[in-house]
Amino acid sequence: PVVFDVERIRSDFPILSELVHGKKLVFLDSAASAQKPRAVIDAMVRTMETRYANVHRGLHWMSERCSDDYENARDKVAAFLNVAREEIVFVRNATEGINLVAQTFGRASLKPGDAVVVSEMEHHANLVPWQMLRDQHGVELRIVKITGAGEIDWDDLERQFADGRVRLLAVTHMSNVLGTYTPVERLAKFAHDHGARILLDGAQAVVHRAVDLRAIDADFYVFSGHKLYGPTGIGVLYGKRALLDAMPPFLGGGDMIRSVTYESSTWAEPPYRFEAGTPAIVEAVGLGAAIDYVQAIGFESIAAHERSLTDHAMAVLAAIEGVETLGHAQDRGGVVAFTLDGVHAHDVATLLDKQGIAVRAGHHCAEPLTHRLGLDSTARASFGIYTTHAEIDSLAAGLRRVQQVFGR
Ligand code: PMP
Repeated sequence: PVVFDVERIRSDFPILSELVHGKKLVFLDSAASAQKPRAVIDAMVRTMETRYANVHRGLHWMSERCSDDYENARDKVAAFLNVAREEIVFVRNATEGINLVAQTFGRASLKPGDAVVVSEMEHHANLVPWQMLRDQHGVELRIVKITGAGEIDWDDLERQFADGRVRLLAVTHMSNVLGTYTPVERLAKFAHDHGARILLDGAQAVVHRAVDLRAIDADFYVFSGHKLYGPTGIGVLYGKRALLDAMPPFLGGGDMIRSVTYESSTWAEPPYRFEAGTPAIVEAVGLGAAIDYVQAIGFESIAAHERSLTDHAMAVLAAIEGVETLGHAQDRGGVVAFTLDGVHAHDVATLLDKQGIAVRAGHHCAEPLTHRLGLDSTARASFGIYTTHAEIDSLAAGLRRVQQVFGR
């Protein structure tokens, strides 16, 4: 069995020794944003203290060192996803990556009347950009159903693709509400067999399991640094080389051009074509450090630890009368949304917070999904590499206390 020394990992995260309302912090909101290990913080501080200048411009030592560090981070991301460095575009976050694809690939390669398919369990980040494209450009937006267990409904998927007009399937790799991992290799093959491209929203999945984009055969993939124990302000868009080559720029400005006259401009090659302006240099270095950090631990043991946490959470929550957990997919990860009978999710979160326990409450940026499940809001506990079984027991004890306050 893999030995996972969670206490050693916890000691890498300075914030975990902070007190909240005088209580030990129990941070169960990593799916919203994860905490940062010392290695990430140090890499960013070291860059600012010793190797900082703008990138790709100066013919001086500092700029060359800093450009190397920035490009080195791109190499790390490329190796992390098993793709080529030219296929990695740095963006602000997963949201920006999807908007970039919608506004460039979407406008240039989709014609009015073509269809885009997303699923019922998408985060707003993978729904709203397609609604905008629909309204601007006349493509059709179709929503594929999910089953009661929270998995893609394949019969409905077949129906959505039946008329041959779908050109893009854009789905999550892991739901931030239901915890479902989608069968991405099968979905990619399905899309390709039907003449469509596939975009995967990896914002959640990439944190919890190794992602090999060549094996998946994804056309586009996005994720955010801040959920992967890295900083905010840096995210990644992967696009297959041939697709990026054919795409027009998203934003115009410095760094993304080949040459400029007063009349017109020509574009740089990918990925620079899509990185207008001064990028998030320090944050890219931080993301590179975060990737080094998780890879040193290894996804095999991370996944085993988190599976054990999730099983434990499902069991202890099921043992509390009045608690209902959402999402029962075969393949599910460490986010557990739940309701507590007779208590609003916001009250659950507020009362847990008084005990030092951080969970999220609301619709988790998946408002249509929440309503589709017949709910207005849920509470959500989510786990990371530093989460312990004892913290999940604290959550269960906390929920029993909430029930007492509400006389349940
Ligand atoms: N997709 C999923 C599945 C997410 O969980 C999130 C973050 N909650 C996003 C997209 C958006 O990430 P960001 O806000 O960093 O762009």
